Amino acid sequence: MEIDPTRMCELLVGLPDVDVVGVEDVACGPLRVHVRCRERDRWCRECGVRARLKDRPKIELVDLPAFGRRTRLVWHKYRWQCPEPNCPRGSWIQTDHRIAWPRMALTDRAARWACEQVGRYARSVNEVAGELGCDWHTVNEAVIAYGSALIDHPDRFGPVEALGLDEVLFVRTGPYRRQDFSTQLVDVSAGQLLDVVPGRSGKAPSAWLAAQDQAWRDLVRWGTLDLSGTYRSVFNAMLPHATQIADPFHVVKHANTKLDECRRRVQNQTMGHRGRKTDPLYRCRRLLTKADERLTDHASTKLRGLLAAGDPDGDVATAWRAKEAVRDIYTHTNAALAMEWTERLAYELTAANQPIEVRSLGRTLTKWKHQIVAWHHAHVSNGPTEAVNNLIKRVKRAAFGFTNFANYRIRSLLYAGKPNWELLETITPH
Ligand SMILES: [Zn+2]
Repeated sequence: MEIDPTRMCELLVGLPDVDVVGVEDVACGPLRVHVRCRERDRWCRECGVRARLKDRPKIELVDLPAFGRRTRLVWHKYRWQCPEPNCPRGSWIQTDHRIAWPRMALTDRAARWACEQVGRYARSVNEVAGELGCDWHTVNEAVIAYGSALIDHPDRFGPVEALGLDEVLFVRTGPYRRQDFSTQLVDVSAGQLLDVVPGRSGKAPSAWLAAQDQAWRDLVRWGTLDLSGTYRSVFNAMLPHATQIADPFHVVKHANTKLDECRRRVQNQTMGHRGRKTDPLYRCRRLLTKADERLTDHASTKLRGLLAAGDPDGDVATAWRAKEAVRDIYTHTNAALAMEWTERLAYELTAANQPIEVRSLGRTLTKWKHQIVAWHHAHVSNGPTEAVNNLIKRVKRAAFGFTNFANYRIRSLLYAGKPNWELLETITPH
């Protein structure tokens, strides 16, 4: 046990090679711990001569709370000047990365802690700033500086067998709530967010893929995508050898969208207005998009009753059956049977007597049948799809509402990009 008062104090402060000069305790204010480095760095590295003390600035840094109190570290530094008139170094200030990195307002240990709280545990920057007793920008700066070093680490991801491209809404801005989209690149098998690039055009994801090694691109066997021509072109151009897979989640979602369009059209035609609480079609909108096998007997009877009342020509019922038939594509375990099913379905749905939305769905199936059935070839279970959908939710929870793309990207990648948090102690902030 240490009983020397000076050593005890040093132990509590816990910084290497510093003298604790004093502790300032102001009522209601943070605890101020004054320190000075033992190493004085007073020799000019260029000329090898002893430097002159120019001044002794004090730098106040936000540190981790001590015993439940907000704490500031006041670092008494030395600024030296070389006496040689032609010295290229001129003057310099003492630095020690173990205390803090230059220009950072947080001590190194507080910055690493803040980065982990925000990045790994998805705490808000405000909350962490509140705990440290500093402002939002101070914490955000630390998250960006240490976080980028973690996510840019070359070992964060290796070869990827199944690559997914997905558009994600990350913010609505301005008086018209303009939607800003981003594209996320995902390792579908590992459920790892590889990167986020701005926009939902093909430009940024293509550039991202172009920046990877040819060898890395060659190893991508599967490319999963929604039913968008944009990402299809990206895969065609950048990963021509990869088999494209239409993400089942998006295929079923598309069928549901068509069903919804049909319901709204019939609603308008029969009632002459948009859905109201009492309209049968409006009342069944949630039941319609639910999977049939998940409807209770009661709900199923209710759905049929509401359709009978609000859907005189049976268009909505047809669109509903089409949606269920699309879902059935994924009950097939055999790829050849799945193709047969998809082709026959597409053929039936495009028949002239089908509702307009159902025909549109049929055409989409025809256009994407290879990508749809490729899912059966890949033998990827629903697992990866689930992983990715959960990932999207996590990313949104961590990042939704960001107005600044760089912040959004770093926060998403720290939370869902599986950085190696073991490295946090040793990385150099950017
Ligand atoms: Zn010098």
